[in-house]
Amino acid sequence: MRITVLGKSPSWQDAGGACSGYLVEHEGTRVLMDCGNGVFAKLRTIVDYIDLDAVVISHMHADHCLDLVPYSYALTYAPRQQPVPVGGYPGTRTPARPSLHVPPGATQTLRTLGGLWGARRLIEDAFRLEEYDPAKVIEVGALRLRFGAVPHYVPTWAIEAWPADADRPRFTYGADCSPNDALVEFARDTDLLLIEATLPRPERSGMRGHLTCDEAGDHGRRAAAHRLVNTHHTD
Ligand SMILES: [Zn+2]
Ligand SMILES: [Zn+2]
Repeated sequence: MRITVLGKSPSWQDAGGACSGYLVEHEGTRVLMDCGNGVFAKLRTIVDYIDLDAVVISHMHADHCLDLVPYSYALTYAPRQQPVPVGGYPGTRTPARPSLHVPPGATQTLRTLGGLWGARRLIEDAFRLEEYDPAKVIEVGALRLRFGAVPHYVPTWAIEAWPADADRPRFTYGADCSPNDALVEFARDTDLLLIEATLPRPERSGMRGHLTCDEAGDHGRRAAAHRLVNTHHTD
């Protein structure tokens, strides 16, 4: 399994960088975990966006889903995505429609987003949209994915991927979260835990929503993750 960090910034991109986006590849299957602002351009430097099998979204904060907008425009309006006549000439490709797995209730959020400029169905018409059931494993080609709720400002799920024909290696993406035990349990004994380390110090006021670098390390230690990679921090 190959993991490529397309963007690791928090909710504002670094110069030349991108917000959350992680490409997971295994035996020809390509899954993008999160698609924050800046990710679509980064994705294009690695693979052709029509060759992605699925996009999976951990939660509906802008820095994890906003580039679904340009991605949808590309899938809808790029000339190669519009064979003429409809259905294409013999030998032309069918327009690509990667699957898009979003949290429960997120369809409405995406409609509201597109609806702001009169394009309510932009994203669901571009992708094959599905709201995942966090209690169920989903299969995308050679990969399986499962979900684990983690505490954050909005409903958020950590996502784990592993080969469909084996138990390992396991790649666990912790999404955004405040200090918690749920992620520790979800990620227990994982091969690689990608975990946010947003804060230089704990939030000064209000509810907690993110981790410091020390806390990220503590979660990795408690989960007995074989390897830990910090993400979601600014330069
Ligand atoms: Zn968030
Ligand atoms: Zn975030």
